[in-house]
Amino acid sequence: MSIEPTVLYICPNCFSAETSPGECPHCQRERVECDPGKPDNPCRKPPMDKDGRLLSRAPLWWLIRSAPYLRAKLKELR
Ligand SMILES: [Zn+2]
Repeated sequence: MSIEPTVLYICPNCFSAETSPGECPHCQRERVECDPGKPDNPCRKPPMDKDGRLLSRAPLWWLIRSAPYLRAKLKELR
């Protein structure tokens, strides 16, 4: 069984994804590393509160990566 790498490098501006780190060719922003894991990994989904309302349209891994203050907030909800 082959193991496919799941790590991607994603531009924080236009969200174009590459499999290697570097500058985004479109906006010259450094891509950020992201490991969304398996397709059913919960970090691929946007965060919701207890009532199922979306807290953000961004996936959880992105928020954790780009907004550490939100991570603390999300922990309170769990
Ligand atoms: Zn870009």
